[in-house]
Amino acid sequence: MNIAGGTHHAFTSRGEGFCLLNDMAIAAGYLLNQDLAKRILIVDPDVHQGNGTVQIFQDDSRAFTFSMHGAHNYPLIKERSDLYIGLPDRADDNFYLSVLDKNLKNLLDRIQPDFIFYQSGVDILGTDKLGRLNVTKEGCKQRYRLVLNAAKESKIPLVATMGGGYSPDFRDIIEAHANIFRLAQEIFF
Ligand SMILES: [Zn+2]
Repeated sequence: MNIAGGTHHAFTSRGEGFCLLNDMAIAAGYLLNQDLAKRILIVDPDVHQGNGTVQIFQDDSRAFTFSMHGAHNYPLIKERSDLYIGLPDRADDNFYLSVLDKNLKNLLDRIQPDFIFYQSGVDILGTDKLGRLNVTKEGCKQRYRLVLNAAKESKIPLVATMGGGYSPDFRDIIEAHANIFRLAQEIFF
């Protein structure tokens, strides 16, 4: 559990969107190159597409990039994730969670990863000034539960990073993000 990071807009040769180095891609590359993992799934449901991560792994079939992002949000020009889902503006809890649930389960069955990186950006919240979606704090918590439970049931180790969050009241960001630590403790310990 990383209380920071998830800097998914950093490319091989440049930084972008508040991101200098792509921590998840560097860590995933290390695991693959050291033969500590053979097939990595990167789950990135931050409201902004993780364009840097996709570019870094575009020619590497050992890492699968799953992006769920606002279709009309930054970055304007998106990279083609291995699984690419653009969400409509104002998508709510039910819509958001059903899309994630269905696709995540399918992917775990199909890809059988031995490691998961999870970018848990909270800019999906309805309070977010950049987000354009309409997910509640409870919906965001359900998203964590869904991903953490799936990893646990499949016995796949997972690293979670922070990602974005731009609600004007910092307490919304902190409270939403703190829920992943509370849930991880509940689910894994
Ligand atoms: Zn973001």
